Amino acid sequence: MQILDGKALARQIRTEVAEEIRELKKRGITPGLAVVLVGDDPASHTYVKMKERACEEAGIYSIVHKMPDDISQERILETISMMNANPNIDGILIQLPLPAHIDTTKVLQAVSPKKDVDGFHPFNVGNLVLDLECFAPCTPLGVMRLLDHYDIDPKGLDTCIVGASNIVGKPMMHLLLNRFASVDICHIYTKDLASHTRRADLLIVGVGKVNLITEEMVKEGAIVVDIGINRLESGELTGDVDFENVAPKCSFITPVPGGVGPMTIAMLLENTLEAARKRLSC
Ligand code: NAD
Repeated sequence: MQILDGKALARQIRTEVAEEIRELKKRGITPGLAVVLVGDDPASHTYVKMKERACEEAGIYSIVHKMPDDISQERILETISMMNANPNIDGILIQLPLPAHIDTTKVLQAVSPKKDVDGFHPFNVGNLVLDLECFAPCTPLGVMRLLDHYDIDPKGLDTCIVGASNIVGKPMMHLLLNRFASVDICHIYTKDLASHTRRADLLIVGVGKVNLITEEMVKEGAIVVDIGINRLESGELTGDVDFENVAPKCSFITPVPGGVGPMTIAMLLENTLEAARKRLSC
């Protein structure tokens, strides 16, 4: 069994991004990322702080628009419109979840597709489905980079994705399909989940339920990628897979923490760098 070490790979990618940004700065371009953070959700604040720190380290200018929980949708849309027009901002990120009174779809659709470094705008989603150039969502993109780094080719693999959200499971499905994997995607209404997971050469789980995937649900020799992040009462972070008992059966497995999480941030930096590079060709 080999660990898919996302922490180490993310570190390497972040160093490479920082080097490329130093070069870009010599040509007069400093990549810029704007984040919209609404409300007081502690997890969202932690994620945004991590992203700010990563930007600073990479040489990306970042600005966080913090807004109160009761902000109107119009004010959020106005802020996005300003950032769409700001030539120093290459990427715009809307930290989810937004409060219930805000129409998340409308807000995500207000971001210019050219600055949509999270890959949530329908333009980028459509291009991903068609396997055209696009910004792909950072978490599934990070999974693909991790697989590539360990020379795991998805082509022809029987793949099972557990979790079918717009930001994790569905884009993961398209990225794998574009690389010719056979993809089976499961969700809360899937009957007999184990009958799906047990067939998988590559099992990718992003649900948010501790120990959802147990030893008997995993095929011998499978590659297991755990996207889930759950905080235990002890404060410790854990994934969706019963790592201790599943790992011995696997050929490869991601740990939580230190697997997909760091890759997500590394991909955000890469997408922002990519958006900034496009300024040169405008
Ligand atoms: P979500 O709540 O939007 O979606 C969860 C999905 O899991 C849904 O499709 C739902 O149908 C499915 N599901 C729920 N219970 C299930 C069950 N018992 N069996 C099968 N499927 C079930 O969540 P999300 O935003 O997609 O996030 C999923 C997990 O991934 C969370 O733990 C989140 O913290 C984590 N996450 C991690 C990263 C990262 O960088 N590592 C990034 C984003 C999300």
